[in-house]
Amino acid sequence: MADVFTPDKRSAVMARIRAKDTKPELAVRGALHRMGLRFRLHVRRLPGTPDIVLSRHKLIIEVRGCFWHGHHCLKGRKPGQNHAYWLPKLQGNIVRGRRNAARLRRMGWRVCTIWECKVRRWTDAELQRHLRSLLESRAE
Ligand SMILES: [Zn+2]
Repeated sequence: MADVFTPDKRSAVMARIRAKDTKPELAVRGALHRMGLRFRLHVRRLPGTPDIVLSRHKLIIEVRGCFWHGHHCLKGRKPGQNHAYWLPKLQGNIVRGRRNAARLRRMGWRVCTIWECKVRRWTDAELQRHLRSLLESRAE
């Protein structure tokens, strides 16, 4: 089924949603900085180009947009319209995400996901507490 948007309109819609999704990632990076942690961003030589890589801790943090990765929350609900366009796309994101996480784990990384809706709800102190618990938990 054809997309209801023209290609131009579609990329404008996508760009807007994507741009908004970087805000939680900035919040997580800010919190890590304030905790005095060093990390690298969008590391291309690792499967799936993970968002945040803490090499010394062998920890990867993916900050995920609820819509794009199908979180079980209000924001992660499937779009009501244009299913034929969105469903394969969103399903593809989820499958790709799982496959990359499995590869990273086989390489000895711990892979943690932080959802956009949580970051939006948390204070910086709560976010830092969560990050500290990720760093301290050795099991994953
Ligand atoms: Zn969510």
